[in-house]
Amino acid sequence: MSVQESVASARAVFTSGTTKPLAWRVSALKAMNSMLVEHRDDFSAALAGDLGKHPAEAWLTEIGFLTAEISHTLKHLEQWLKPRPVPVPLALQPARARTVLDPLGVVLVIAPWNYPIQLLLAPMVGALAAGNTVVGKPSEMAPASSAALARWVPEYLDGAVSIVEGGVAETTELLEERFDHIFYTGNSRVGRIVMAAAAKHLTPVTLELGGKSPVYIDESVDMIAAARRIAWGKFMNAGQTCVAPDYVLGTDAALAKLAKELPLAIEDLYGTEPAHSLAYGRIINDQAFARIAGLLVEDLAEHSGSALVSGGRTDAPTRYIAPTVLHVDADAKLMEAEIFGPVLPLLTVNSAAEAIAYINAGDKPLALYVFSEDDGVRAQFLSQTSSGALNFGVPVAHLSVPGLPFGGVGESGMGGYHGQHSVATFSHHKAVLEKTLFPDTLALIYPPFGAVKKQL
Ligand code: NAD
Repeated sequence: MSVQESVASARAVFTSGTTKPLAWRVSALKAMNSMLVEHRDDFSAALAGDLGKHPAEAWLTEIGFLTAEISHTLKHLEQWLKPRPVPVPLALQPARARTVLDPLGVVLVIAPWNYPIQLLLAPMVGALAAGNTVVGKPSEMAPASSAALARWVPEYLDGAVSIVEGGVAETTELLEERFDHIFYTGNSRVGRIVMAAAAKHLTPVTLELGGKSPVYIDESVDMIAAARRIAWGKFMNAGQTCVAPDYVLGTDAALAKLAKELPLAIEDLYGTEPAHSLAYGRIINDQAFARIAGLLVEDLAEHSGSALVSGGRTDAPTRYIAPTVLHVDADAKLMEAEIFGPVLPLLTVNSAAEAIAYINAGDKPLALYVFSEDDGVRAQFLSQTSSGALNFGVPVAHLSVPGLPFGGVGESGMGGYHGQHSVATFSHHKAVLEKTLFPDTLALIYPPFGAVKKQL
């Protein structure tokens, strides 16, 4: 099918009205669930091929993540779709008002390569639950996952979802078409291209973007436990996670303690030689490898403010970069843009207030992580910073709370999804007002305004 045919077919199915009943939505979600369960090994093998993902990690962060999202949605969907009564002002009574969720129509989902299955299908869960049809564009950078999706999705979700494979050319062609919502996950440069294309048709967009997600840590916490949490969030998927801790801020004393514990935490997770650990992933392609390894070499070799704590080994043929921790200063190359790889810089600040000032001087992060037992410090971060999410004591895990909206703010994106928030995102919240013609209480305000004039 051509790009145009895929969109036309999704449009025809939506226009026919078949997607509106709850029963259709439920069956679409159940079909997606069956696909994931029945072809779990195929999806898992694709993720291993693209990113060296361990089957357990593939389940926890992609396939099982999706089945959990589907079962949460199935459990609550009927309730979420119920019209919401709204109070009517006295002057308009008797009357009844409510909001009703209408499907938008045809939704375009454009996914990136780092969680190539989760990030294509999780938005679709919400789009289908809200009664839309979908055109999905997997990332060409994760070819095995893209092929698995193109093979199985049409078999289970024919009519509901069309998959268009391809790269920039195909995405550009897709963006010429008119959609009723565009949901894009990826970098902010392409986010701008998507938004500009959407503007031509006045199509609403959700942009799930990236950026540097900071960690702040102080000495009040148990360093062994904190180091394990930080290492887990940073080095899963070899650091290629949009909400991975990008860098750590703390006082010299706090960072010295953390630097002692991080290598031990890394060893607990991946052994003494992570290159041999099946649990440790690989960098997606040679270009990304060269970028991350280049940053590391430049900061370590040419920047006097940097000092290696642990890791540092790279191997181009296997695209392996060891889990790496290093001290840096604010001028380090690693502190300029999102690292998106397994390299964790530690940057000294003198206080929580200085950490907040540093964070606030940059783009609003997708996530911010604070490790402190001090209620005052936690309150400071809560009230004085803006980020997509703010977690105390654990990175990344907010994605697994289906009641929390997942999304960015400012440069890290706009809009949110997961669970009920997805259904809200992919619906039009239609205002419905019903007023009987008699008694005609509005007679009081009709021209020539007799009743109103008396009150002036
Ligand atoms: P990517 O290169 O796979 O690109 C994402 C999508 O954009 C792909 O489908 C690709 O085909 C399309 N695309 C690329 N160039 C295009 C162009 N010129 N015109 C139209 N479409 C184009 O993925 P990426 O952008 O490298 O992903 C990594 C970034 O995504 C990081 O910044 C990361 O933080 C962010 N990210 C955010 C989230 C989130 O949920 N907020 C999740 C994952 C990744």
